[in-house]
Amino acid sequence: KQNQLLEQLNDELLQLANKDALTNLANRHYLQRFLKEKLQTPQHVTIFMLDIDSFKLYNDYYGHLQGDEVLVRVASILQQVALEHHLIAVRLGGEEFALFGFDLSNDAATHIAEIICTQVEAAKIPHEKSTASSFVTVSLGYVQLEQMTFVNFTNVLEMADQALYAAKNNGRNQFQQYTPELSVHV
Ligand code: GH3
Ligand code: MG
Ligand code: MG
Repeated sequence: KQNQLLEQLNDELLQLANKDALTNLANRHYLQRFLKEKLQTPQHVTIFMLDIDSFKLYNDYYGHLQGDEVLVRVASILQQVALEHHLIAVRLGGEEFALFGFDLSNDAATHIAEIICTQVEAAKIPHEKSTASSFVTVSLGYVQLEQMTFVNFTNVLEMADQALYAAKNNGRNQFQQYTPELSVHV
């Protein structure tokens, strides 16, 4: 009986440790564990990384509490996309999120990148101070990794992040696929 209780508590703790408290999405810790487990055998993995545009200005103008509400709304859009396309949505931290999936064609990955950007803007959350739109938008970078075994978690996120950085530089509210050429500029 005692053991059962302990087991249950441990399960609950593990759940909590894997989840972001504000948005209920999986967290970075979960992503790391999941990939490590999954990638013992080679897989085709796609990682999308996204970041809310001009979010500091949003907080400054609308306040931190309303900023938190934006995070929750963006997270729920991402969760919906994740359910529809068999992806896992993660809050990496702050206003940064990731989604990842397996065996997505280039067309499918591009399509998903596009609908994420479109759906966030289509939610029409007013953002008067944004440089990219009059609504809250995201910039997104993604990377297609063929036959990936567990290389290095940080490197993988780094590639998606470089593409994200390019999307920001190009004017925000858009997506960019990672190519090795992008690495030259960092
Ligand atoms: P960019 O378009 O280049 O992404 O600009 P930005 O202002 O979004 O980026 P920056 O990294 O300068 O600011 C991120 C802001 O996100 C700063 C911080 O106040 C806010 N932020 C991070 N975590 C949270 C959170 O949990 N809640 C709220 N409300 N704001 C957060
Ligand atoms: Mg950021
Ligand atoms: Mg941002």
